[in-house]
Amino acid sequence: MQNITILGATGSIGVSTLDVISRHPDRYRVFALTAHTRIAELAAQCERFRPEVAVTGSAAGASELAAMLRRAGVPTEVLWGEAALCQVASDSRCDTVMAAIVGAAGLAPSLAAAQAGKKVLLANKEALVMSGQLFMTAVADSGATLLPIDSEHNAIFQCLPHDFTRGTGADGHGIAKILLTASGGPFLARAADTLDSVTPEEAVAHPNWVMGRKISVDSATMMNKGLEVIEAAWLFGASAAQIEVLIHPQSVIHSMVSYVDGSVLAQLGNPDMRTPIAHALAYPERIASGVAPLDLTAIAHLRFERPDLQRFPCLKLAYDALQAGGSAPALMNAANEVAVDAFLNRQIGFRMIDQLIARVMDTVPHEPVTEMAGLLEQDRRAREAAREYLKS
Ligand code: NDP
Ligand code: MG
Repeated sequence: MQNITILGATGSIGVSTLDVISRHPDRYRVFALTAHTRIAELAAQCERFRPEVAVTGSAAGASELAAMLRRAGVPTEVLWGEAALCQVASDSRCDTVMAAIVGAAGLAPSLAAAQAGKKVLLANKEALVMSGQLFMTAVADSGATLLPIDSEHNAIFQCLPHDFTRGTGADGHGIAKILLTASGGPFLARAADTLDSVTPEEAVAHPNWVMGRKISVDSATMMNKGLEVIEAAWLFGASAAQIEVLIHPQSVIHSMVSYVDGSVLAQLGNPDMRTPIAHALAYPERIASGVAPLDLTAIAHLRFERPDLQRFPCLKLAYDALQAGGSAPALMNAANEVAVDAFLNRQIGFRMIDQLIARVMDTVPHEPVTEMAGLLEQDRRAREAAREYLKS
């Protein structure tokens, strides 16, 4: 029996995780569930899954949840705030942590799980992009098991040799390239000069995946793929030159690994996050996920093309940040979070997102990252610079 904490249980990944878990009550028990603002949803999850602990974002949310649970006769302990998130991520009563909070807010609890040596199922890519070196060192020092949930990285993981160790990096196993597939998002076929007028509603309507709002906008700008390039570099010890992005609008091949002997291994499936979630939960075994089998004859043709970096400047910004190293990816991530928020709140147009990120990366100098305090200071500076630029 695995005892699981789900950080971000009310989100898209959190709900899919509970769906997979509910199919295997003999294997998984929910130890803790966390939410930020969706208290009624969290209360319903607590009634159904009976966790030991539930965590909310605020004291008011915690009182509201406690009152709901009391009325329903659910004995779950209710806590709130970042320290509580870190506590349930590292608690000795839990074995596995699904890290599915969105954005930099997930860094502290995801890192706490890694430091405590948990089996960490990582969806919160921003945490790794920000703190790659510190995060991977924490995993190595504590002996934590890190399994990727992001569908592309989970696919790459499945296509790597069984004895793959990050220590030898991508070179050491005859790996020529990691081929990271990208759907291209909702605006792949749209004329570039009309992009400024797109609305948040159009941007979050992803053609293949149903996801949270922030990652949906990231997919539309292709910053999501940029974050994923950096995520892959850390997870698999690969250089920027070893990671190639390939547009594949159908999202059937979730990524590939190309070897020096000419073999290319791919992982295929319907675009449903329950597949990578089930893979990581059960690894190295396999369990049913509820996802329908792939019907290749219905798909018939698979399409690929190279990404256009002029059209999607965010992808280039991410490659630049990876190459610059140090805190550059954290600066980029912070600026992106502010820009996406401003776009979703209709403060700026779609094309301003990449301009704002580029401006912050040009004006805030990046630094080597040696400890968390310095990293958080860089994150703060980038957000401040982004907000100043927004005002002007
Ligand atoms: P959602 O927006 O759907 O959910 C985010 C979750 O995080 C919610 O439970 C939310 O709580 C919680 N949350 C938000 N802000 C805070 C905060 N400040 N402190 C604590 N908790 C917070 O996001 P997704 O599920 O789509 O994405 C989660 C992560 O997984 C992201 O990093 C994303 O990049 C990654 N990912 C997602 C994929 C997908 O298909 N959705 C695919 C691959 C990766 P509440 O709702 O209660 O406010
Ligand atoms: Mg992905």
